[in-house]
Amino acid sequence: MADIKRIPIGPLGTNVANNLRRIREQRHMTYTELVKQLAAIGHPIPILGVRRIERRERRVDADDLACLAAVLGVDPWALTQPPQCDACNGAPPAGFTCNACGTSAVPSAA
Ligand SMILES: [Zn+2]
Repeated sequence: MADIKRIPIGPLGTNVANNLRRIREQRHMTYTELVKQLAAIGHPIPILGVRRIERRERRVDADDLACLAAVLGVDPWALTQPPQCDACNGAPPAGFTCNACGTSAVPSAA
């Protein structure tokens, strides 16, 4: 097998994961619905793939980002930015998830 190094997902990727979950849940959009809409615009990602993106186990490439943004109806760059949240300022303490916006803390480099 190829020796693929796992590079930890960085801050923008972490924001994408958090924003995807937050916006999807705000819209009451199920994984099935999201996946169906991704397929409809010609960029199918399996449900497992979406779950892994939200869990920061799968990287989001440029095409994933553009299509996720299209399906969610947001700007692609906005998906990479921390949410505007008065409760946590987009950065809850390590190990915590903000109840207001659903953002999880960026795991400390490990
Ligand atoms: Zn928050």
